Amino acid sequence: MIQIRNLHKSFDQLEILKGIDLDVQSGETVVIIGPSGSGKTTFLRCLNLLETPTSGALTLADRHLQFTPGRPVAKNEMLALRRETGMVFQNYNLFPHKTALENLMEGQITVLGRSKSEAREKALRLLDKVGLADRADMYPHQLSGGQQQRVGIARAMAMDPKVLLFDEPTSALDPELVGEVLKVMKELAQEGMTMVIVTHEMKFAQDVADRVVFIDGGVIVEQGPPAEIFGAAKHERTRQFLNKLS
Ligand code: ATP
Repeated sequence: MIQIRNLHKSFDQLEILKGIDLDVQSGETVVIIGPSGSGKTTFLRCLNLLETPTSGALTLADRHLQFTPGRPVAKNEMLALRRETGMVFQNYNLFPHKTALENLMEGQITVLGRSKSEAREKALRLLDKVGLADRADMYPHQLSGGQQQRVGIARAMAMDPKVLLFDEPTSALDPELVGEVLKVMKELAQEGMTMVIVTHEMKFAQDVADRVVFIDGGVIVEQGPPAEIFGAAKHERTRQFLNKLS
């Protein structure tokens, strides 16, 4: 589903991603872990081109983009690739002046050209799926953080993405609200959604990931099934990182 080859990203002269290669299979849940500042969020944002990679290649679904310094990629190609992805942000990023239902309808109508009734039907179905059918007419400020994030996930799903990207989806939440969001994510993983998740929730990673990728200093140091990474990491840097957490 996703192929990343020799991906680099610099901000001004500072190189943050230093050559990342990663494949994500259809239906796979890949969890990215690593120290603060290691480039996890930057990497995730490169996958949907919220950041433009400096160089390298990205294939997502059937769309292939090559990044070469000084040769900008056509805007329509970038938008087409972004449309294959759904992004769930740390701070929900809901439209504050729209209800939960309207938040889910907006993109379907303006970007996908769906009719109002079709968008509404899909939105209601997805709100029900994330346990918020009874909150459809509420505004974000009337919802708890956990509820807002579930709306965020449902909104991303409403666009029928091929891949869902999560950028630390629970790190802004009070601890007692984390579980309800992780539960929704776990259900999506079990249904076979392809997901790439940056998170500090190690238990969730252990539980739900098909593969854990450890990034440090802008490179992938190690990757493997959770049992291997958490139980028998090969690299000293991985072990040090995990030891610090426990
Ligand atoms: P955390 O776990 O703390 O969120 P992270 O691994 O997700 O960290 P990134 O957010 O990707 O790390 O940041 C990696 C580095 O890139 C940091 O040093 C950050 O300051 C830098 N960086 C990120 N975005 C920009 C930007 N738009 N301009 C300049 N530097 C940036």
